[in-house]
Amino acid sequence: VGFEPERRGSHPYLGVDFRTLHSLCNREALLFSFQRHLLSSRLLRGAPHLNPLHILDEDYCGQAKCMLEKVGSWNFDIFLFDRLTNGNSLVFLTFNLLNQYGLIELFQLDMVKLRRFLVLVQEDYHNQNPYHNAVHAADVTQAMHCYLREPKLAQSLTSFDILLGLLAAATHDLDHPGVNQPFLIKTNHYLAALYRNTSVLENHHWRSAVGLLRETELFSHLPVEDSLSIERQLGSLILATDISRQNEYLSRFRTHLDENDLCLGHASHRHFVLQMALKCADICNPCRPWELSKQWSEKVTEEFFHQGDIEKKHKLEISPLCDSEANTIASVQIGFMTYVVEPLFAEWARFSDTRLSQTMLGHLGLNKASWSALEPEASGSSEEGESEPGRATEEPSSRALSQGSQES
Ligand SMILES: [Zn+2]
Repeated sequence: VGFEPERRGSHPYLGVDFRTLHSLCNREALLFSFQRHLLSSRLLRGAPHLNPLHILDEDYCGQAKCMLEKVGSWNFDIFLFDRLTNGNSLVFLTFNLLNQYGLIELFQLDMVKLRRFLVLVQEDYHNQNPYHNAVHAADVTQAMHCYLREPKLAQSLTSFDILLGLLAAATHDLDHPGVNQPFLIKTNHYLAALYRNTSVLENHHWRSAVGLLRETELFSHLPVEDSLSIERQLGSLILATDISRQNEYLSRFRTHLDENDLCLGHASHRHFVLQMALKCADICNPCRPWELSKQWSEKVTEEFFHQGDIEKKHKLEISPLCDSEANTIASVQIGFMTYVVEPLFAEWARFSDTRLSQTMLGHLGLNKASWSALEPEASGSSEEGESEPGRATEEPSSRALSQGSQES
């Protein structure tokens, strides 16, 4: 498998001239999209190539294979799996699942192209992001697999749906710069200009995935209309992970459930269910067992606070939840769970009333209680000096949504 020595990618602020950000005289001049190839190269990002598997000893390989036998378990420890595969969890997990579902054979996927595609996908995640990296993508793919096996989906989804679901999960945050959309907009990042400030990150993840599909010619043996359909549907799934559109999807889901009119024989309804499944997989961290959930919470907060530090340093307005002096992991998590995760998973449990759904809601409740116990003031009362009462729950939806937009 040959790799280009230098691949393109996004970078949160390489190429942003912070000195000019505060001068409003000529905003157009601040766009720097043409510097992209020069300034945001893989070389500058310092991302390494695929960590070689051959340096792993047999014992590690054996343990990784052993873990894959339980890849459908909700307790699957993706962090351990990533260590056992020497940082290649996304490649191994996705390949294994595609194979397990018989999709490689069914769609006659070329093994070399597939491997190259998965390696490039994994590489185009930024492993220096504490949260939005390839391990998060692997985790979302594993969760997606759990949902695809739920009876209602397993009975109705086609192989094409499953292929799309897994590919969308693996690529849904591709080339994530580690900062959120408001940051890209206020720094006049080329991605914000390119996508006109609308679902900027999600559009970029989708287009990056399409780029890799075309580059590796993974589906070049399929009729053109089929590969175009894959690209289009991949986009519709990835765009659904834009958390600022959560209410739109959630109320549509709720209406379907109230009217009991989801007919999974219809391709459009199956697609909608896949969108909801991907949304759940994307923000399922608080529904995992505490030991896993806690690690994700720490990582996502680290990424927020890192953004806040850059904003502080360059005298930009600090984004909600990103100020390490005004927020804690517990306060961020409790808000996110209450306003974003709980409403989504409550509806999912109505749709798929299974043991897994009950398990997820159980963990969600316990994890929330654990964060509240660790920091009681985060769930309501404020400490002396910490200003106005109810600070932690101030503007709940916008704060939570703003976090969600980073988590997605
Ligand atoms: Zn995500």
